[in-house]
Amino acid sequence: MRRWLILLLVVAHPGWAAGLPHLDLDLRLEPVKGILAAEATLNVTAGSLDFPLAPSLKVTGLTIDGRKQPLPPQGADSIHLALPGAGPHTVLLAYQGTLSPLPDLDQKGVLARLPPMVDARGSFLPAGSGWYPDPGEPFSYRVRLRLPPGQKGLVAGTLVNESELNGYQADYEYAHPAEGIDLMAGPYQVTERRVARPGRAPLRLRTWFYPDMANLASAYLDDSARYIARYSALIGPYPFDGFNVVASPLPTGFGMPGLTYLGREVLRLPFIRATSLGHEILHNWWGNGVIPDWTTGNWSEGLTTFLADYAYQEDQSQDAARAARLAWLRDLAAVPESADTPLTAFTARHHGISSIVGYDKAAMVFFMLRDEIGADAFAGGLRRFWQRYRFQRASWSDLEQTFAAVAGRDLDPFFRQWVRQAGAPRLKLGDARWANGMLELTVEQAGPTYQLRVPLRLLGGSEQAEMRWVAVDGPVTHLRLPAARLIQAVELDPDYRLWRRVEPDRFPPILREVFVAPRAGLLTAGDDMTEAARALAERVLDARPEALQISAAGLPGSDPVLIVGQTEQVNDLLAKLGLPPPPPQLAGTGSARVWAARDDSGRPYAVITAQGPDALKALQRPLPHYGRQSWLLFEGAKVTDKGIWPARAERIRVKTPAVRQRSDVAQKWRFS
Ligand SMILES: [Zn+2]
Repeated sequence: MRRWLILLLVVAHPGWAAGLPHLDLDLRLEPVKGILAAEATLNVTAGSLDFPLAPSLKVTGLTIDGRKQPLPPQGADSIHLALPGAGPHTVLLAYQGTLSPLPDLDQKGVLARLPPMVDARGSFLPAGSGWYPDPGEPFSYRVRLRLPPGQKGLVAGTLVNESELNGYQADYEYAHPAEGIDLMAGPYQVTERRVARPGRAPLRLRTWFYPDMANLASAYLDDSARYIARYSALIGPYPFDGFNVVASPLPTGFGMPGLTYLGREVLRLPFIRATSLGHEILHNWWGNGVIPDWTTGNWSEGLTTFLADYAYQEDQSQDAARAARLAWLRDLAAVPESADTPLTAFTARHHGISSIVGYDKAAMVFFMLRDEIGADAFAGGLRRFWQRYRFQRASWSDLEQTFAAVAGRDLDPFFRQWVRQAGAPRLKLGDARWANGMLELTVEQAGPTYQLRVPLRLLGGSEQAEMRWVAVDGPVTHLRLPAARLIQAVELDPDYRLWRRVEPDRFPPILREVFVAPRAGLLTAGDDMTEAARALAERVLDARPEALQISAAGLPGSDPVLIVGQTEQVNDLLAKLGLPPPPPQLAGTGSARVWAARDDSGRPYAVITAQGPDALKALQRPLPHYGRQSWLLFEGAKVTDKGIWPARAERIRVKTPAVRQRSDVAQKWRFS
């Protein structure tokens, strides 16, 4: 029995005990010419080695265990080396060649699979892209990097030496099991700050920015220190001895051990320090500290989203947090049920700045888990998971075991339905009646049924609302709830604490419904505004805006409509169309106002009003980033206020004896 257990452990963590493969890399880059030249020393225990090598890199020397070898066939995508016996072996490989420059920098979005690129504007050699001999299993490494004057670069790891005589030379060591090496270089200006840590060497924080963005460095260093302190207190000490914010010439958004590689344009956006930076720093615990078991689902994006992006909304207010959950459910509503997959099937390793539904659900699952076991057990579970799996691979079921142990209860039903099973419940309130201090109601589930604790809000007269959590199981759950006070209405999950499918018409309108529509119409108002209005429409709409003419009341055409123009003239236009005037919180303030709405038929439209063309031009840059909002107030290019219209909760009126009595009285009067 014991032998069997030991065998299981070995299978679960291959090669992670002492004696990791080790790669020693001495590397020279000539970014202007695109040249890479390297000598690699690889210590492995294996009978053979197979690794990808970029076809333009030629092997110039090969030695195995001190014996010179014939060169392997050139120009193939991968190299196969037979080694004499199981080892240990030392393989020396010299190789060089010219790598591709950066792709067209106008490309939008994050490229899915990047080749190794060497370019004076910035070099990026991603892990697993065939620029070093990869042992094919987690390994430790040491990299010596040489660059010509004017260029600097780094890989993840401890900086052990650095010099700038005759160009840049730096040695980095990574002693933990690494899954690959990412290398970044460029014409960087490095700004450094040391942060004292009790009982440990000071933390080395650095920005690697282009000279024209050097003024951003100190704010990035401040915020990096703040996030590292926050998560060290929440989870456990920061696992690396430094953190680097590296500017990328490409629109990337990557987190690697001890560093983040973010697009240079992205780094300039004001909200990146408030959200993405914290997210990438947290990946040093979840993702690069504890490594997800990619074969059984990547939990690290969801946990990071929950404790970073979402947690910052909770820091702000309960309303902001509720709006974030509502936004997740809105994303879910846009996913066809047939396309839904379980979290165990979500394996993406990197992500861009934009979020996808796979992250939303996982984040909501951690939110629901905290509701399920309580905040203390949840916090304890996080710390135990970190202690137990630091620099190891861990799966969803390792998370389940850890939280179950700390909470002292079985969490199998919870993880089965939310993690291992695809889909989401659809919940509805059935008949409800209150009499003599007892509320009776039914909760219905359509489709596959879930075991749930559902929050209900009980509303009675002018009395304050009361929240109750009820257990729901099966297609129809009959509930009897003691309620001393008269209950007139019940709302189901009004704060969106459950991952569930919500009918689309229950969501409040947001700008994105118009911005991303495949076809959209444009109405402009104000003669001197037409040009600026059109330019702004082209910037914010995915569709080519189709200029509309108004004929009768109501929005023309049948597509979503954007209305842009001079404030008073837009107000006149809205009146002509029979649409409501600007909402009260926007009337008469700011240099520009933006809001989303739906007409009587449910068709989305958005309105942008400003005093003059300059105020419209100022919106060009910021406005596309606020698609998840219902309304915005601008002063120039700055958002001074924003929000989401209230959602319509699932609500049912409760039948009460008081109502029946009133109608009895009315009938008596009629007949008397
Ligand atoms: Zn992430």
